[in-house]
Amino acid sequence: MAKKDFYETLGIDKSADEREIKKAYKRLAMKFHPDRNPGDKKAEAKFKDIKEAYEILTDSNKRAAYDQYGHSAFERVNMGGGNTTDFSDIFGDVFGDIFGNSRRQQRSSRGSDLRYNLELTLEEVVLGVTKEIYIPTLVACKLCRGSGTKIGTKPQTCNTCHGSGQIQMRQGFFTVQQSCPTCHGSGSIIKNPCNICHGHGRIEKSKTLSVKIPGGVDTGDRIRLSGEGEAGKNGAQAGDLYVQISVKKHSIFEREDNNLYCEVPINFAMAALGGEIEVPTLNGRVKLKIPYETQTGKLFRVRGRGVKSVRNGVVGDLLCRIVVETPVNLNEIQKQLLSQLEKSFGGPTGERNSPRSKRFFDGVKKFFEDLTK
Ligand SMILES: [Zn+2]
Ligand SMILES: [Zn+2]
Repeated sequence: MAKKDFYETLGIDKSADEREIKKAYKRLAMKFHPDRNPGDKKAEAKFKDIKEAYEILTDSNKRAAYDQYGHSAFERVNMGGGNTTDFSDIFGDVFGDIFGNSRRQQRSSRGSDLRYNLELTLEEVVLGVTKEIYIPTLVACKLCRGSGTKIGTKPQTCNTCHGSGQIQMRQGFFTVQQSCPTCHGSGSIIKNPCNICHGHGRIEKSKTLSVKIPGGVDTGDRIRLSGEGEAGKNGAQAGDLYVQISVKKHSIFEREDNNLYCEVPINFAMAALGGEIEVPTLNGRVKLKIPYETQTGKLFRVRGRGVKSVRNGVVGDLLCRIVVETPVNLNEIQKQLLSQLEKSFGGPTGERNSPRSKRFFDGVKKFFEDLTK
């Protein structure tokens, strides 16, 4: 079943800013929240969709990925399966500032997102490629499984905050929540730290990942690898890894959207008489017919020899720009032939053979005559 567009789900415009997204979410969440619709499975499903759309669209990285790749950007997240929604957590973002939500602290122990800059050649981009990348990162400690405690021991509940990770302070009329200074918000104290990670639950390590790059990506595109960022603190969720694509300059082709451009120099005899040449494409050569009297700068389109779009599968064209090359290193015979040819033109502004030159010099002449009138 096709998944509904996140913007549609929230009933907002694609250009909606964060404030508008929050507003739409608040309104819909109030209506479909399971607490308000006990036992109503439809409302629950709807609420999950709203929550998901909200979470993606308020995270600028995720939103950018969604705008580019649609739902496929988040496939790995959805495939996680059995992803039970914790309803009490839902209001953490929007209503947290109003009610004061202790869960926000836990959220922030999620691992950091990482960015990896990957440079590709145009050939790799066109065909798609699988790349091995090495990233230095923090991974969960294998010995203690991220808990940071020595095997057989458990972290002790913090005496200051009694495990909540937060303490309440009174300031005039208000009660203000603060992160517990003893346990730094974790709610527990590690008395017997793990020998490997010294209680951090994470260790520095390089990891190798094999990343499949779909054909057609371009400079500025990002590929998100869910959960491949830094490990979270104390076994919390890992961050994501964003692979930022840039494409190297190619010696022959220049890319613009899904079209490729190349300059094809031909000599002026062929430009005048016409002929057939071979032009390169990224998958072999193709024949290109040059009609007679082809002028420099003329563009010829070879359909379907551009780049296949990563978004909609549309294949671009190859555009060949003809450049007429002035002959160099002429021998005596060639020089004589050209000089004979020039005489036959009737000089540089010969009306019949060089109409453009003729028009230009006539225009110049008129310009000076008007000036001296
Ligand atoms: Zn504490
Ligand atoms: Zn450890």
